[in-house]
Amino acid sequence: MKALVKRDRAPGLWLEDVPKPTVGINDVLIKVDRTGICGTDIHIYKWDSWAQKTIPVPMVVGHEFVGEIVETGDNVTDFYPGEIVSGEGHVVCGRCRNCLAGRRHLCADTKGIGVNRPGAFAEFISLPMTNVWHHDPSVDRDVAAIFDPFGNAVHTALSFPCLGEDVLVTGCGPIGCMAVAVAKHAGARNVVATDVNPWRLSLAKKMGATRVVDVRSESLTEVQAELGMREGFDVGLEMSGNPDAFRSMIDQMCHGGKIAMLGIPSEDIAIDWNKVVFNMLTIKGIYGREMYETWYKMRVLLQSGLNLSPVITHRFPYRDFQAGFDVMMSGQTGKVILDWND
Ligand code: NAD
Ligand code: ZN
Repeated sequence: MKALVKRDRAPGLWLEDVPKPTVGINDVLIKVDRTGICGTDIHIYKWDSWAQKTIPVPMVVGHEFVGEIVETGDNVTDFYPGEIVSGEGHVVCGRCRNCLAGRRHLCADTKGIGVNRPGAFAEFISLPMTNVWHHDPSVDRDVAAIFDPFGNAVHTALSFPCLGEDVLVTGCGPIGCMAVAVAKHAGARNVVATDVNPWRLSLAKKMGATRVVDVRSESLTEVQAELGMREGFDVGLEMSGNPDAFRSMIDQMCHGGKIAMLGIPSEDIAIDWNKVVFNMLTIKGIYGREMYETWYKMRVLLQSGLNLSPVITHRFPYRDFQAGFDVMMSGQTGKVILDWND
């Protein structure tokens, strides 16, 4: 089968013929329909220091996908060929204390598809049945392809109640933009989104932000005054990994404010801890999705009218993957979809 492979310990990806995956007794074999390019795939493409210490080569990359079941192992009883599914990208051990307690998103030994085990940028992927998610048959296929990052946005945005709250989203990449839409749909009063990239700010506006702020030229304090907010943001969703963004978030929170932090800092971030202590802030780290409560909520959000379609900005056949990666690296995109049908 065709697959996008990290073949060499160098920048780039290679479209190669690789063996079709085998199907163990607990596995589901899925014919991949569409995939989404993630920031993680860009790190692997560029072969940065994180990728160099994390990715064994050769590795089939990619983890955001939707596809159709074509085969199931002997122990699999509730999945059938023809069903439309996505995969939870974190394969957990099932045996650690958190897994046994049903807190699988907190597994101490998570393996990532397309990172530690063969991924989804391929014609077929085989996954344990515990990692397969049935879609509502009415789901839009492009949206189904991005349930993984949509789940990051939902996990973060619904970590603290949003109803009636003023929410600050720092970073309007694809995940920040989806978090804007989720927070608004969940009843936030104001959702203010920041970035330093005007293209991304206009996308956040399309996704329902009350106000977008280019922090290079505008002050969040003034925006708060303009919106009639007197005491600061109730909820912060950190979606950039940028030190200045995180520090400004801490400055802009109300006393007792709650921060959910998804953005991965590229360096150590020094903050004024007095503000955390005296303002009694809560900071919660977010990794992946809750299995499968986040997935359940994603389905219900879409069924209740959440519209994610503006976040999908580019589509390419898989053979044109290079164009997809190039446009993604330009910063002028939301989600980029690769179609795996020949
Ligand atoms: P992205 O890189 O596309 O978006 C980040 C955005 O932050 C960019 O638009 C960038 O311009 C903006 N930004 C940079 N400096 C800023 C500043 N000072 N203020 C405000 N915005 C600023 O990333 P993404 O794919 O949308 O993902 C969001 C973040 O979440 C990334 O840091 C990513 O690594 C991380 N992530 C975490 C998990 C997890 O499980 N914790 C999963 C996926 C992604
Ligand atoms: Zn575990």
